[in-house]
Amino acid sequence: MRGLSEILGDWEAVIGLEVHTELTTLETKMFCRCRLSHDDEPNANVCPVCLGMPGALPVPNRAAIQSIVMAGLATNCEIQRRSMFYRKHYFYPDMAKNYQTTQGPIAFCMHGHLDLEVEGEGARERPVSADTTAAGERIERADDGSYVVPIRIARIHREEDAAKMVHAGGAEGRIAGAVESYIDYNRCGTPLIELVTEPDLRTPEEARLFMEKLRQTFRTLGISDCSLERGSMRCDGNVSLRRRGEATLGTKTELKNINSLKALHDALAYEICRQAEVLEEGDAVRQETRHWEPSKRRTVVMRTKETADDYRLFPDPDLAPFDLSDDFVEEARARIPELPDAKRVRYVRELGLRRADARRIAADPETSALFEETIASVAGEDAEKIVSTVANVVVNLLPGHAGVSSAQIRGLSGLLAADAITFAQAREVLDVIDGTDAAPEAVVDERGMRQVSDASALAPVVDEVLGRSAEQVRQYREGNRKVVGFLVGQCMKASRGGGNPKLFKSLLEERLEA
Ligand code: ADP
Ligand code: MG
Ligand code: ZN
Repeated sequence: MRGLSEILGDWEAVIGLEVHTELTTLETKMFCRCRLSHDDEPNANVCPVCLGMPGALPVPNRAAIQSIVMAGLATNCEIQRRSMFYRKHYFYPDMAKNYQTTQGPIAFCMHGHLDLEVEGEGARERPVSADTTAAGERIERADDGSYVVPIRIARIHREEDAAKMVHAGGAEGRIAGAVESYIDYNRCGTPLIELVTEPDLRTPEEARLFMEKLRQTFRTLGISDCSLERGSMRCDGNVSLRRRGEATLGTKTELKNINSLKALHDALAYEICRQAEVLEEGDAVRQETRHWEPSKRRTVVMRTKETADDYRLFPDPDLAPFDLSDDFVEEARARIPELPDAKRVRYVRELGLRRADARRIAADPETSALFEETIASVAGEDAEKIVSTVANVVVNLLPGHAGVSSAQIRGLSGLLAADAITFAQAREVLDVIDGTDAAPEAVVDERGMRQVSDASALAPVVDEVLGRSAEQVRQYREGNRKVVGFLVGQCMKASRGGGNPKLFKSLLEERLEA
């Protein structure tokens, strides 16, 4: 097979996503008061409503409707005041009612969009010759090739999840070859929202970034934990190809079993290459659902789609049509916190953070809350330096340390900003204080780390390293200034990472220039 970028030169990939998100932060199910929890004993959280017993009547979960309105507002959708629930019929044991309660032609949220910023290596997946949006507008590229492209969102509608089935005795837990199947109705009736994009994405990287942005947005809204690994956020990728310049859409395939952002990218990239090969051999792509196999890095056919789904969709007579009030919508709007994009811009503009740091911190609600708590008390002359050091610590040192408080981060950043300790030592201190309430300053004193910025303590190390590096000393004096980096490395090694590299460098230069 040819490579992706070569193929995308000849063919335009058209991608649309369908994203299901479980509203994991709610207390109860969509139409009954059963507790939402996946950790309980199987079939512990069930009642006549979610088991579809005759005569049981559903009552919509108000908080779940508020969550979808928040999701819609955060993705620039129009909120539809009037909508209805529909029954979508199918026969399968994972839904005891024999129908899923979903929405019809009108969803709570319609006609939205998100602006995607595509930067770095991934921006090169889109050929420069293909710089138009789906609506035909020109895309401007920055000098480094990065660009912004709007992706339209067709709708976000309300649904409920089905029960979880466990197939035992077959390969990979799939039904084929299984001896027994078990059903856990705890998940049945979990409030879900499904977001459907227009077919506006053009590269696997754009699809990956869209999912990432959606995940950050929903996590910041606090409506879901959005775990692709655990399946609280699930994404189907629809993809087709057409010759560049062609206006009609090609036949699409739908990719399932995507449980990471990387899998979404890789599955789409594989599928684009596969379809190109089919088309170039003069064959037609078949409309089908395909399963991504991460270990084999390929997609295989799951089922071929019928021309029309016959779910016998009709309005649910047990649920009254909605007429959302202004108050209800405004209440949802008022609950929307500052979203990642706005946060990032503020961090750069008001705090002077580097764009990359600002983006990393703003992306995650817990990280940004901790960052803001840490810098809240920073004031005075060196405030800017301390704030940027806190950002550096949060982005580069903190990952992997769950038990560090804002006060500890503040202390550590103060030590770093004052050059009292090195970055390597800060890492060591962090490992020690993680999960305790020890003050970083105390740990540094206890371990005698402060001395590292004391020239008299480092001088013997410098002398020792220079003493055994005659060759590098000669090179330096002949004009090869770069060897000083090597010598700093040797000093760091000799001091077991405990010396201040800046100080080592200036001590080395002082002696080499002499
Ligand atoms: P289906 O009825 O097969 O689910 P929909 O029209 O509901 O199809 O679209 C599902 C998703 O597939 C949407 O995200 C849409 O943007 C995308 N899509 C539709 N047609 C195409 C196509 N020809 N190529 C790629 N994606 C498509
Ligand atoms: Mg579909
Ligand atoms: Zn129930």
